[in-house]
Amino acid sequence: MAGSEAEFPVVEITVAAELEMFRRRSRSGQHGRPAHIACDGVSTLGHVVESVGVPLTEVGELVVNGRPAAPGYRPRGGDVVRVQAVRRPQRPSPHRFVLDVHLGTVARWLRLVGVDAAYSTDADDDELIDQANAGRRVLLTQDRGILRRRSLWLGAFVRGARPAAQFADVLDRFAPPLAPWTRCTACNGLLAPATKAEVSPRLQPGTRRSYQVFSRCRDCGHVYWRGAHSGRLDAIVESAMNR
Ligand SMILES: [Zn+2]
Repeated sequence: MAGSEAEFPVVEITVAAELEMFRRRSRSGQHGRPAHIACDGVSTLGHVVESVGVPLTEVGELVVNGRPAAPGYRPRGGDVVRVQAVRRPQRPSPHRFVLDVHLGTVARWLRLVGVDAAYSTDADDDELIDQANAGRRVLLTQDRGILRRRSLWLGAFVRGARPAAQFADVLDRFAPPLAPWTRCTACNGLLAPATKAEVSPRLQPGTRRSYQVFSRCRDCGHVYWRGAHSGRLDAIVESAMNR
């Protein structure tokens, strides 16, 4: 401990292995080892955990000196803190989500399996938070900064570098009820069955000849049939249903 921090008492913090990826090395020492953080007697445990780099949305139980503690607890020198990862599956009520601009593929795949997933390509941080709070939607993001915003009611960091891993992480974390082929992948609206006669004007002749079963988005009118691309989509649905 160097410089002015030496005059403050110190708290020892150990984070669960799943949370090590969030630790800021410069602030909190070596990964896999407890961090020693100067406490000023004013900051809450929640602030101290965030100062190590871990967003509170990713935190489950907090244990201080062997006992559960709330994020509002004010740590004292000599406290030994253990930070657990949020327990899976986490079950928000209802299972509704809003995804940030970088997670468009995950949003489409969630819709494909019937999960309510709001998404737009140009929402900024404030709009995402407003949308999450107003619709009681869990904000899914890989931006740690937005997860630290106090005004956000509920968010989650999505793990994984590629859509398949990110999609699997969301399903694993929240275990949402699945209803494949019931939601519009373009706009998140619900689909309703449609007769061939109803959708016929919107179809190419080849599609009109080859398919008999159709559905249509109640919101944007987009017409769906099990077509040429459904092999890949089937595989995505299957991967979700098999989890
Ligand atoms: Zn639609």
